[in-house]
Amino acid sequence: MSSRLKARGIVPRKSLGQNFLTDDATARRIVDAAEIAPEDLVFEIGPGMGALTVHLAKRAGWVVAIELDRALIPALQRELGEARNVTVVHGDALEVDFGVLAQEAERAFGWSFAAIRFVANLPYYITSAAIRCILECGLRSAAIVLTVQAEVAERVVAQPPDMSLLAVSVQFYGEPELLFKIPPDRFYPQPEVESAVLRIRPHAQPFAVDPQAFFRVVKAGFSQPRKQLRNTLAAGLGITKARAGEILLASGIEPGRRAETLGITEWIGLANYIMSNESIA
Ligand code: SAM
Repeated sequence: MSSRLKARGIVPRKSLGQNFLTDDATARRIVDAAEIAPEDLVFEIGPGMGALTVHLAKRAGWVVAIELDRALIPALQRELGEARNVTVVHGDALEVDFGVLAQEAERAFGWSFAAIRFVANLPYYITSAAIRCILECGLRSAAIVLTVQAEVAERVVAQPPDMSLLAVSVQFYGEPELLFKIPPDRFYPQPEVESAVLRIRPHAQPFAVDPQAFFRVVKAGFSQPRKQLRNTLAAGLGITKARAGEILLASGIEPGRRAETLGITEWIGLANYIMSNESIA
């Protein structure tokens, strides 16, 4: 990889999270995890030099690969060679409209896609924002397969009593699994930490709760780490501690518990109770 980059005059940019995957067996394992069928559309964030893209193009009906670094695009296109089912978009994956790109890809494909999937070895500096963008873009996807820092993957799949705002946010939309870890020496340049591949399968049906109210309450709950919910909810929602205690008890939650100990269904019950009984600004 180092010589391929040098030959093309490319110096990896740390500021863009450029750690290129050098191990083809790992690339295939990541692509396998996405369970792609020939009529599927795959979005790839940060194709880089195409380590995953070449395999995605062989399996999917269409691939839309969004790369921020214009300098990599000619090299990527060379790697893709004859593949005619890849649209390379130069842009910021946090800014693009996935819905519009999916419509354009469908016109180019000439057929309705059976499913939409997301695959990425994410640049680590945009991990949380990219996960949020994918989950909240409004497209129903069948699977999301992401390489992230191992420590982040562990936080995403955590269960009570080790939940975090990130874990609740992901698990609200889907079921995450940590599939396998990748040591630093499978990338060039090597990242400082171990990576892990995460697969998120979005829930078939959204939960019966208003997402805005849900996240308002969850954010209030996590606003002061390791404090009792009675206190964090009071501060976060602008209500008295006594009222916060009553709300929690009425929702079946002991007011002395911490946000990290609540599961998704408890947050939903709490958000729905607050929506029906409280007027919060
Ligand atoms: N997929 C390639 C691989 O596995 O070797 C590259 C992975 S590298 C970890 C991350 C890639 O994301 C780089 O190519 C980088 O330029 C690109 N990137 C960084 N920020 C981006 C953004 N906001 N939108 C799209 N691509 C981005």
